[in-house]
Amino acid sequence: MHTHDLVIVGGGPGGLTAGLYAARARMDAVLLERLSPGGQVLTTDIVENWPGDVEGVSGFDLSDRMRDHALKFGLVIESKEITKLTVDGDCKVLSTPDGEIRGKAVVIAVGAQPRKLGVPGEELLIGKGVSYCGTCDGPFYRDQVVVCFGGGDTAAEEAVFLTRFASKVYLVHRRDELRAAGVLAERVLNNEKIEVLWSQVPLEIKGENKVEAVRLKKLSDGEEYDLPCDGAFVFVGTTPNTEFLRGVLDMDRQGFIICDRDQHTSLNGVFAAGDCCSKLLRQIVVAAGEGALATYAAQRYLEEVHD
Ligand code: NAP
Repeated sequence: MHTHDLVIVGGGPGGLTAGLYAARARMDAVLLERLSPGGQVLTTDIVENWPGDVEGVSGFDLSDRMRDHALKFGLVIESKEITKLTVDGDCKVLSTPDGEIRGKAVVIAVGAQPRKLGVPGEELLIGKGVSYCGTCDGPFYRDQVVVCFGGGDTAAEEAVFLTRFASKVYLVHRRDELRAAGVLAERVLNNEKIEVLWSQVPLEIKGENKVEAVRLKKLSDGEEYDLPCDGAFVFVGTTPNTEFLRGVLDMDRQGFIICDRDQHTSLNGVFAAGDCCSKLLRQIVVAAGEGALATYAAQRYLEEVHD
C-alpha cells in the first residue's frame, strides 16, 4: 500500500497552509477534509485581521483563496473523514470508513466547533431558534428579538452582525467586562440595538416548537426571570474536533492537543496546527503560521527518521 510523505487532516487555514508549504516543497502530500475545505472561517462574515487585506475579506473568499493557492502548487485534497490514528513502525495509519491511508508524517489540523451551553432546552431547540452561527442564520431574524450568550470575540462580532437583521439584540455575559478585543467590544457598546445584560447566566432555553424565551439568573442577587425572544445564539467558546485522538496524543483537559513550539505532538512524526491545539490565541493568522511550521518540522522529521 502506498505511504505518503505527509498526510494533513483538516482543511481550515492551518491545514491549507500546511498543504501549501508541503506542495511547494514537492512532498508527496495529501490533505483530507471530511466536508469541504474552509473550516470555521467559512462561517465568518468579514475577517478584519488578516494582514494585508486592509478593507477586510469575507470568510468565504479567504477560504476559497487559501484552497486555490494550495491547489495551484499541486496539493491533492480528498474528501474523507478520519476515525482513527494508529502507528505501524515508522508509519502512521489513518482509518476512514472506506479504508486506510498511510503517511510517514501527519499534520493534525482538525479545528474546533462551537461549545454548547449545556442548559435544558438547548439541544431540543437547535434549528428551531437555537443557533451557533449568526452569519448562517441571522437573516431568519429580520425585525425579531434575539439573545446572544458569551463575551469573547465571537459573541461581540456576531452580536454586531445580527443587528443588521434583528430589531433588538441582547448580549448576556456572565461577567461585568467583555473578553472581546477592544475594537470589537467598542462596537458592541456603541451599538444602539445591542443591550448587554451583565453578570447574568442562562438557566434554560424555553419554547414548545421554537424558542420563545430564555430563563436567566442575575448573579448579583440570584433573581431569575424569563426574557422573551425569537432566537438564542450561543457563542461561549469552542471545543476541539479531537475525540478520535483521545488516548493517542497528549491533550489538555478540554481536549486541545498539546504541542511544543515547533508543533510536535507527543507522538513522534505527528504534528498539529490551528484551533485544535492548546494555546492562548485562536486566530486565522496563528493557525496559518502553525500550519507552515508543522510542515517544515515534518520535513525535518522525514529527513532525520526516514531518509
Ligand atoms: P472565547 O474567547 O473562549 O470566549 C468565550 C466567552 O464565552 C467568554 O466571554 C466566556 O466568559 C463565555 N463563556 C464560556 N462558557 C460559558 C458558559 N458556560 N456560560 C456563559 N458564558 C460562557 O471564545 P470565542 O469568542 O468563541 O473565541 C474563540 C477563539 O477564536 C478566541 O481565541 C478568539 O480570539 C478567536 N476569535 C477571533 C476573532 C477575531 O480575531 N476577529 C473572531 C472570533 C474568534 P468569560 O469571559 O467569563 O470567560
